[in-house]
Amino acid sequence: RGKRAFIAGVADDNGYGWAIAKALAAAGAEILVGTWVPALNIFETSLRRGKFDESRRLPNGSLMEIAKVYPLDAVYDTLEDVPEDVKANKRYAGASNWTVKEVAESVKNDYESIDILVHSLANGPEVTKPLLETSRRGYLSAISASSYSFVSLLQHFLPIMNQGGATLSLTYIASERTIPGYGGGMSSAKAALESDTRVLAFEAGRKGKIRVNTISAGPLGSRAAKAIGFIEKMIDYSYANAPLQKELRAEEVGNTAAFLVSPLASAVTGSVVYVDNGLNTMGLAL
Ligand code: NAD
Repeated sequence: RGKRAFIAGVADDNGYGWAIAKALAAAGAEILVGTWVPALNIFETSLRRGKFDESRRLPNGSLMEIAKVYPLDAVYDTLEDVPEDVKANKRYAGASNWTVKEVAESVKNDYESIDILVHSLANGPEVTKPLLETSRRGYLSAISASSYSFVSLLQHFLPIMNQGGATLSLTYIASERTIPGYGGGMSSAKAALESDTRVLAFEAGRKGKIRVNTISAGPLGSRAAKAIGFIEKMIDYSYANAPLQKELRAEEVGNTAAFLVSPLASAVTGSVVYVDNGLNTMGLAL
């Protein structure tokens, strides 16, 4: 039987989540996605109307099928955690069962088990503010949406993951080197995510022989990255300074993701794997 993957953080055809879904689909996996509740309607409508058909095309000519789209808000673990104003918000009220625990239950009811869990989401409301000007609330929101969201997903999905399964998240070099402009506690959130990758690799490895890795990706002009504001500058910087002077395609991150969650990477866990044209290795730009 083919593998089944749940990919959290797909809401259009531009980001890393979409590229990872395609690479896994091309390798024969069945694709389930988790889409942020406020983005759900437009994503499903666009899918249905064929807006993504061109970007659904796989190397063998067929179109990627998404078996099911689950509404998800990864900052809430259970229904009890959801504040009244969010419950009442019409974008949220129109969907149901979107807390992490409920999504895992829905996937279990629909499909019994999964083999692959991908976390491709982040959010930091104060990302454009320097850390020195970031509020406690903004900092904790960044950590909640971008780091704890992975802990929570793994906590709730681990019981339905088949032995030998693999999980993956996406991180950014701002966790270990200062990237002015990547603020609001997002650098802190990525540092937490990378540290958690190691600890969770141990815990999930011992508990269910599940692997946990993270890809440190180079800059991509996704929707989320455009919200930060300086993504074009980062792409130009990378082009000018990386060992490989070429555009970084989302597909290249997708392909590495497919490798990391496959049996080809059966001894790789707890790792931060750079997919950035080698930019992270540079100490002096020439
Ligand atoms: P993206 O916009 O395609 O993906 C981010 C997704 O997160 C969106 O679909 C958004 O709807 C979703 N999201 C936000 N808050 C959520 C929540 N509370 N619950 C559920 N979903 C939520 O952008 P992307 O750049 O491809 O981001 C994917 C991952 O890649 C992120 O972890 C990001 O930090 C990481 N990354 C991106 C870059 C880059 O340059 N784009 C570089 C390194 C790492």
